[in-house]
Amino acid sequence: MIDHRRLGRELDLFVSDPLAGAGLPIWLPAGAAARHAVEEYVRELERRSGHQHVYSPPLGKRELFELSGHFGYFADDMFPPMRLSADDEFVLRPALCPHHALVFRARGRSYRELPLRIAELGGMYRSERSGVLGGLSRVRAISLNDAHTFCAPDQVGEEVVEILGLIRAAHAALGVRPAGFRLSLRGPGEKYVGDDAQWARAEELLRGALAGVDYVEAPGEAAFYGPKIDIQIVDAAGRESTISTIQLDFDKPERFDLSYTDRDGSRRRPVMVHRSLVGSMERLFAYLIEVHEGAFPAWYAPVQLMLLPVDDGQVDAVTELARRAVDAGLRVEVDAAGSLGARIRDAARRRVPYLGVLGSREAADGHLALRLRGGRALDPMPAAAALALISRQVASRAADLLPPD
Ligand SMILES: [Zn+2]
Repeated sequence: MIDHRRLGRELDLFVSDPLAGAGLPIWLPAGAAARHAVEEYVRELERRSGHQHVYSPPLGKRELFELSGHFGYFADDMFPPMRLSADDEFVLRPALCPHHALVFRARGRSYRELPLRIAELGGMYRSERSGVLGGLSRVRAISLNDAHTFCAPDQVGEEVVEILGLIRAAHAALGVRPAGFRLSLRGPGEKYVGDDAQWARAEELLRGALAGVDYVEAPGEAAFYGPKIDIQIVDAAGRESTISTIQLDFDKPERFDLSYTDRDGSRRRPVMVHRSLVGSMERLFAYLIEVHEGAFPAWYAPVQLMLLPVDDGQVDAVTELARRAVDAGLRVEVDAAGSLGARIRDAARRRVPYLGVLGSREAADGHLALRLRGGRALDPMPAAAALALISRQVASRAADLLPPD
């Protein structure tokens, strides 16, 4: 049975220490290296598509979250406030939107700036009961890939279509296989804010953006402030969860009194689109560890190249080659201790995508014999060519270890 908690331990990706607290895993160097590569990719994808990145603190004044509505609608999922004095209470934030609304409000805005896309990979917190916590899939400290687009009402449809494209690109690069698209709508009950006409219009916009996509409608699954598109994944145990989301919000611009100056000089209310391309780093990696069984694509593998000298005679040559690989931007390790067979088995256990074996003949010729994860051995080639091959596969974020023939 594939389980990211077991693989996480075996591959030294993360640790859950009871002393740190349940649902508060620690990313170990190998897990952090993989996550860092994924974060850099996502940031670049967002930068290229017109997003501007910000940093905001993971806690804020209670009043901020009263204004946003989180205290009214979401308090059960929040940690209790921290009181510094009678009129000074802070909470760990349950979402990034309130801070991003303040980014929009930081100065006057013009229609020329819209759509304004504010992105952040930020911390947020959820007071999950300890019974439901496990590994990285359900945690209390969440690192969310998040962004909020502030746009004119007539820009919403196009923006949603564009975000769907970004989600598809991110899924393809990471190896995410969505289990389905879901249009989450209002259900019965009164937990929803905003008027009927707004909801109807928002639902219609999302349906339009999903034209040609296979999706199901899920009444009652909407956020309290608007309908959303959720993209679902299924983990190895068959549990379904949301990995990517696009949510329309007519409510927060109202609550934060957000406005921009339109072409004719009038003040207009923007629409806020919440979206996450790949969800939280925690849930994403819980999924990626399982779907790849720990064998990540080379571009985010913790160690991309393991160099193995056949015996002590090649240690200097291997050290020099490792330095060149590091200079080329690769994550590389040298394993020189023990029998070659045991070292090859250990690298296979760690799912290292490329092994570079260096015997006396390769060292003399300046060659390297590459072995791919899975066992395939390539003919020895000039070391520079071997590093170039790996660098190309990494730079193109290829799923395969070799270019297509
Ligand atoms: Zn949000």
